[in-house]
Amino acid sequence: KKFVYSFGGGVAEGKADMKALLGGKGANLAEMSMLGIPVPPGFTITTEVCAEYYKNDRHIPEDVIPQIVEGIAKVEALVGKKLGDPADPLLVSVRSGAALSMPGMMNTILNLGLTDESVEGLAAKTNNPRFAYDSYRRFIDMFGSTAMGLEHELFEHALSAMKTERGVKLDTELTADDLKELVIRYKAIYRAHTSPSHDFPQDPKDQLMKAINAVFNSWMGKKAREYRRIEKIEGLLGTAVNVQAMVFGNMGNNSGTGVAFTRDPNTGENVFYGDYLINAQGEDVVAGIRTPEPISRLQEEMPQVYDQLLAIREKLERHYKDMQDIEFTVQEGVLYMLQTRNGKRTGTAAVRIAVEMAREGLIDHQTAVQRVSPDSLNHLLLPRLDPKAKERPVARGIAASPGAAAGKVVFSAEDAVHLHDVHPSDPILLVRKETSPEDVAGMNLARGILTSTGGKASHAAVVARGWGKPCVVGCDALVIDEEAKQASIQGHIVREHDFITIDGTTGDVYIGKVPTVDPEMTGDFATLMEWADEYRTLKVRTNADTPRDARRAREFGAEGIGLCRTEHMFFEDQRIVDMRKMILADTTEARVKALNDLLPHQRADFIGLFEAMDGCPVTIRLLDPPLHEFLPHDDSGQLEVAKQLGIPVEKVRQRVAQLHEQNPMLGFRGCRLPILYPEIGDMQVRAIMEAAIDCAKRGVSVHPEIMIPLIGTVEELKILKERAQALCEQLLSEAGLSIPYLIGTMIEVPRAALTADEVATEAEFFSFGTNDLTQMTLGLSRDDITLFMPTYLEKKIYKIDPFQSIDIAGVGQLIEMGVRKGRQTRPNLKIGICGEHGGDPDSVAFCQSVGMDYVSCSPFRVPLARLAAAQAAL
Ligand code: ADP
Ligand code: MG
Ligand code: MG
Repeated sequence: KKFVYSFGGGVAEGKADMKALLGGKGANLAEMSMLGIPVPPGFTITTEVCAEYYKNDRHIPEDVIPQIVEGIAKVEALVGKKLGDPADPLLVSVRSGAALSMPGMMNTILNLGLTDESVEGLAAKTNNPRFAYDSYRRFIDMFGSTAMGLEHELFEHALSAMKTERGVKLDTELTADDLKELVIRYKAIYRAHTSPSHDFPQDPKDQLMKAINAVFNSWMGKKAREYRRIEKIEGLLGTAVNVQAMVFGNMGNNSGTGVAFTRDPNTGENVFYGDYLINAQGEDVVAGIRTPEPISRLQEEMPQVYDQLLAIREKLERHYKDMQDIEFTVQEGVLYMLQTRNGKRTGTAAVRIAVEMAREGLIDHQTAVQRVSPDSLNHLLLPRLDPKAKERPVARGIAASPGAAAGKVVFSAEDAVHLHDVHPSDPILLVRKETSPEDVAGMNLARGILTSTGGKASHAAVVARGWGKPCVVGCDALVIDEEAKQASIQGHIVREHDFITIDGTTGDVYIGKVPTVDPEMTGDFATLMEWADEYRTLKVRTNADTPRDARRAREFGAEGIGLCRTEHMFFEDQRIVDMRKMILADTTEARVKALNDLLPHQRADFIGLFEAMDGCPVTIRLLDPPLHEFLPHDDSGQLEVAKQLGIPVEKVRQRVAQLHEQNPMLGFRGCRLPILYPEIGDMQVRAIMEAAIDCAKRGVSVHPEIMIPLIGTVEELKILKERAQALCEQLLSEAGLSIPYLIGTMIEVPRAALTADEVATEAEFFSFGTNDLTQMTLGLSRDDITLFMPTYLEKKIYKIDPFQSIDIAGVGQLIEMGVRKGRQTRPNLKIGICGEHGGDPDSVAFCQSVGMDYVSCSPFRVPLARLAAAQAAL
């Protein structure tokens, strides 16, 4: 069996598509060799050998050895030097490289083959003793620390000590004799710290085998395992080992080493981007010991090398048809390529590169659409901290909802409302221990939200994400004194109306006002979205409750509203007063009166939405949350309500107590409200239809879809639908108009999914409310998982948070069944999804696979959903 693949001299046994077997580095070294790009010759030991190594109790299998010997012989022949030749030694590097890049996680050993004897040969042959000893001391350091597990610091200290003794600052200022002395000290360190103690190995074959073992060992090293866990890298055989002839960037001022990207990885601009260092080796560029020069300087310092690099840049891009991340070394004016791979990039760069490469004819539109990961669009969709800003963060919390926001601090939702009343244009930043539904008015007015407690699924986090509002939660360093209206963060005192800035993408918190920049869908971004739409079959709608959100979503390409949550409309201004009047009413008449006061507001809201969505469907969900969410739970709040409404506080208390629930999620909410109080549903249906009629009369094209939440049995739906339909028909006939409208339901109670065939006898559309459906199917309250969910994810009890990505194995079955059974009864049943999941790429792909008509997500996730839907269709 073949375990070793050679490359070099313009040929190679491997190629780029053999990454699983040769690792990314090995496969691409082979490919570059074949392309005639100058690559030092070498060979790759396969990842299969790594797997065997571990099965074989950490021993390289016997039948691999002869192939390694043969590989070395080929390199020796190509270079014309022999490993261990005392007069003119071949030196090699031993490099790790798995199928997926794990930067810096595994080991690399350079200059292998140097011994006490051959270092003299190298010095004489190159006429450069300084270089020879520098190479040797680096080798001892790397071999000692990676193959033998010695502390790299031991060698670092010896180097610093030497520099201090000689009174110099830079490594490059040490002389050949200094370095020769340093080699002696390094070898002493090696002897002193190896156990069992032994001398630095003087047989290059022995060095090589130990180094190969070390690379295999690093695959299971702590760093590498941790990295794979975090990056969710699974199912790889192991690392390959690349043994490659050394070239030297540390041979003087006509030598050097560098790393570069074929395009700017931050902006995507088509410019050569990178750094290099003269007279340096290996990781010196990234290690930050000396400040590297920008690649453009190379044009002046080594014009021929620069031109050659430009040609290779072009060649690599034409060949790989993607932006490359490259490593190179120049030895005495001769250029060698040491690595190439597809470069990591920001979302902004990903979009620009995909679109420009399509325009340049490197890739087609379909490839461009597939090239950009939907999540990376987040980068383009958020107000971001101005990249030119210089401020430093003072604390870091949990990044709960991305984007940056700067604003004046308020410590309560009321204060937010107050500040907004007085200074409507002031940016507000709401800072609280935690938030609750009573805070939504203030939250809505805030540019950003910062809490000292809570996790990614806390109220603040979920609401903020839904609105695309930057949010940082669980910022332990933040200590709030609500009474005194001030807070302290890491010793900084923040008073009410002081500015702070949060970055919900990173979780960073800044004192003061850091400038931000707003997102727009223009240029390459807009182009890529148009291309995506050519392939997409799923429609994309948005979850929006205000005309502003609706308009924004349309700018991002939303084709309708999939979920308007009417309860959000009842918290503002006078409305909450009328709402409370309604809830506290003793009689149906009193309730109807309060509802009548709410009607014009609600109607106006819907008019705004219909206008913003002219020509598109608008799904409006009837009141969903339990009524007690609209009443204050504390004494002072209840007193205030009593005063406002002119009723005894006792009465408020009584009602709150009466409405109190052990499990509000499973209580008196959703369709259960209008079953008991039909007048609530009547008011909302009337508001919807009257708004539709008003708009239709003015030529607005309206498509209302009335959605009844939390249906568990078809009987519930039947009762409510009949009533709603009768009212709609009455209003339409009074107006003498006919407007197409639908009455449908959310599928969010598992029983509704199980009996979808029955539910569909009444429902004219289904919208899967996957938040509740997940809660009820998994028996997990979304608001109460913060304590154990991290552990659950860590132990892989759930692979992903089921509230972020649909639990396909469980909840997915209910959805699949719901779609199938629903369409059994009503073949043209319109079906969509309106949970948080509508903006999650994997969930979108799932929705496509079960045959939904649309997904609906928050405005800022609309472009993600469009791209994810296109990719799901391809
Ligand atoms: P990583 O995977 O961590 O990037 P590499 O195997 O790429 O590790 O090695 C790190 C660096 O060592 C390379 O960027 C290159 O500068 C240097 N290097 C590796 N092999 C050679 C070689 N044969 N000749 C010269 N330098 C080398
Ligand atoms: Mg590398
Ligand atoms: Mg619900």
